[in-house]
Amino acid sequence: VELYKIEGWGAPYFSVNGKGNITANPHGRDTLPYKDIDLMKVVKKVSDPKIQGGLGLQLPLIVRFPEILKHRLQSLQSAFDHAIRSSGYTQHYQGVYPIKCNQDRFIVQDIVEFGSQYHFGLEAGSKPELLLAMSCLAKRISSDAFLVCNGYKDEEYISLALLARNMNLNTVIVLEQEKELDTVISASRKLGIRPVIGLRAKLRTKHSGHFGSTSGEKGKFGLNKLQILAVLKKLKSFKMLDCLQLLHFHIGSQIPSIDLLSAGVVEAAQIYCELFIFGAGLKVIDIGGGLGIDYDGSHSGDSDMSVSYDLHDYAASVVQAISNACDMKNVPHPVIVSESGRALVSHHSVLVFEAISSSSMDTKPTNFSLAYLSNELSGDNLLDYRNVMNSAMRGDHNTCKLYIERLKTRCDDQFNDGSLDFNHITAVDSFCEIMMNTMEESDPVRVYDVNLSVFTSIPDFWGIGQLFPIVPIHRLDEMPTENGTLSDLTCDSDGKIDHFIGGTSSLPLHELDNGGSGYYLGMFLGGAYQEALGGIHNLFGGPSVVRVAQNDETHNFSVTRAVPGLSCANILKVMQYEPEVMFGYLKQCVDDLGLIDGDEMCCQLAAAFHSMPYLVSSSNSQNDKEEAQRK
Ligand code: PLP
Repeated sequence: VELYKIEGWGAPYFSVNGKGNITANPHGRDTLPYKDIDLMKVVKKVSDPKIQGGLGLQLPLIVRFPEILKHRLQSLQSAFDHAIRSSGYTQHYQGVYPIKCNQDRFIVQDIVEFGSQYHFGLEAGSKPELLLAMSCLAKRISSDAFLVCNGYKDEEYISLALLARNMNLNTVIVLEQEKELDTVISASRKLGIRPVIGLRAKLRTKHSGHFGSTSGEKGKFGLNKLQILAVLKKLKSFKMLDCLQLLHFHIGSQIPSIDLLSAGVVEAAQIYCELFIFGAGLKVIDIGGGLGIDYDGSHSGDSDMSVSYDLHDYAASVVQAISNACDMKNVPHPVIVSESGRALVSHHSVLVFEAISSSSMDTKPTNFSLAYLSNELSGDNLLDYRNVMNSAMRGDHNTCKLYIERLKTRCDDQFNDGSLDFNHITAVDSFCEIMMNTMEESDPVRVYDVNLSVFTSIPDFWGIGQLFPIVPIHRLDEMPTENGTLSDLTCDSDGKIDHFIGGTSSLPLHELDNGGSGYYLGMFLGGAYQEALGGIHNLFGGPSVVRVAQNDETHNFSVTRAVPGLSCANILKVMQYEPEVMFGYLKQCVDDLGLIDGDEMCCQLAAAFHSMPYLVSSSNSQNDKEEAQRK
C-alpha cells in the first residue's frame, strides 16, 4: 500500500483488502452494511464467461462507480454548505458540471439526478454539449439549476441558448469575447427573448502549471477590464444592464494551492463589486473549474500532480474571499457557482488492463564465452573489452558504462560496413547487455506489454505528461520483485508509460505467472478528460465499460450496465469505411479462389470484423477455443 501511495491518492474510495486486492468503497469508508467491492471480483465477473453470471467482456475495461460520483458531488456541496453556514454568508452555493470533462450519457444523467436536490446544473462549451445539457435538464422538475453556456459562440449557438431560456431552463450566456454581445443583442431581439448574460473576466492572476495557460492577461479567453467597461456601456445604452447577472472566471484546471485560488477569487470579487455598483443586475459569481485532485498522494501542491488543500479548504477560502470583498463595498453576497469537473468525475472511473508479457532485459547469453571474445576481438575493440572488464572489477560504474557504449557503437558500425560477422556482433551485444545490467545496480527494468492503447485511454500522459496512479489491482500482499515500464499495443514509440507518480521511471511490479496472462493493473483517477480526448491511433477504440453499484439488499456489488468496446467493424466505420461492403469484397475474393475451406475462411473473416481490436488474452482465447470445440 505504501509502495504505491494508495492511501494518499485513493482515500476514502480505494484501499487494499486482506487478499491483497484493491477494493472500492464507493460510499467512502466505514459504510457498513455495504461490503467493499473487490476489483478483481468485478474483473472476473465481467470478463470470465465461465463463472456464473460472467459477461465475457474483453479488456481493457473501464469500471465506473456511480456511487463515488454521488459521494463526490455531495462532498463538494456539503463543503460549500458548511463554509457558508460557518461564515454567515447570506447566499448559497450551486454547482454546475462542465460536460467536456466526460460527456458519457450515464455520467451526465447521474450528475443531474444526484444533484437534483441541490439544483446542480450543467456547463456547456459547444452546440452539441448545449443540446445534451438541454435535454438532460429539461427532464428535471427544478428549473433553478443553471445551464451555463461557455465557449466561443455564433448566432446559432446563441439562438439555441435563448431557446433554452424560453423553455424555462435557467440558461446564462457567458460572453467569452466582446463581440459576442452584438450577436446576443441581435438574436434576442429577433427571437423576442430577453437573455440572461454572464461575462468571463480575464484575470491577472495566473497559475504557473500546464493548466494555467488559459489564465493571466494573455490568456485565450475572457474580457479584460477595458472590454468589460465597453460591454457595460453597450448594455446600458440598450437598457439591458439588468440582463448581466453573472460574473465568470476560470484560472485554469488543477489549481495547486489555496494562495493562488484566493488571489484569483479576490481579484474577481472586486470586479464583481464594481459591476454591481455600476448598476449591472449581478447575482451570481461563477468561479469556474480548477478544484484539483491529488494524483500523486503527496498533498504538496508543488507540481501539476498534486494539490495542497482539500474540499473544505477550497470552499472556505472561496466563501471568505467573496464575502470580504462584498462586505467591504456593501455589495450583497452573490450565489456562488463552481464548474468543478476534474474533482467531480476523476475518482469514479478505474481503467483496468492486463499485462500480457514481459521482456526481461537480462539477455540470455548467446553461445559466447569470455575466452571467445578475448580471442576474437582485436585492436580497439579488444582494448575496450579489457577496459570494460577492468573498470567493472574496480567498481567504477561510470567509466565502465562509457567503455560499453564505445565498444557497442564501434562494433555496430563495423557490422554495418560488413567487417564484423553475426557471431561477433551477437557475442558483443550479449556481453554489453549483461555488463550494463550489472552496472545498473542489478536492478534491471523490464518492459511489460499491456493490452491497451495509451493514445486512446491515457491521452494526457502522452500529450501533456500527466501522471495517474497505476497499480496492480491484486497480489498486493506479495512484495513486487521487478521494476517495469509499460509498453502498449500501438506501433508507436510514444505508446509507453515510463514515468510514474513519485517521479520514478519504473513501477514495482510482480513476476508474471502462467506465461503472461492474468496480471491486472488499474489506472486510477482518470475519469476526467481521458475518454473525451482519447484518439483512435492504430484504430484501437475505447475500452469496454461497466457500471458497478452496491446492491441495497445484498450489500454486494452488481453490474448494472455493461457495454463492450467498439468492434473492428465499428471502429472502421468511424473512419468512413463500410464493413459490410469490405466483407462482401473479401468474400468475393475467397469465393473466386474456389477453395475447399472457403466457407470457413469467410466465417473467420466475419468473426474478425466482429472482434475487438485489442488482443484476446490467453485465458479468454482458451475459453474461445473450448467454446468453438464444443460447438
Ligand atoms: N470551466 C471552464 C471554463 C474550463 O475551461 C474548465 C476546464 O479547464 C472547467 C470549467 C473545468 O475545470 P476542472 O476540470 O479543473 O474543474
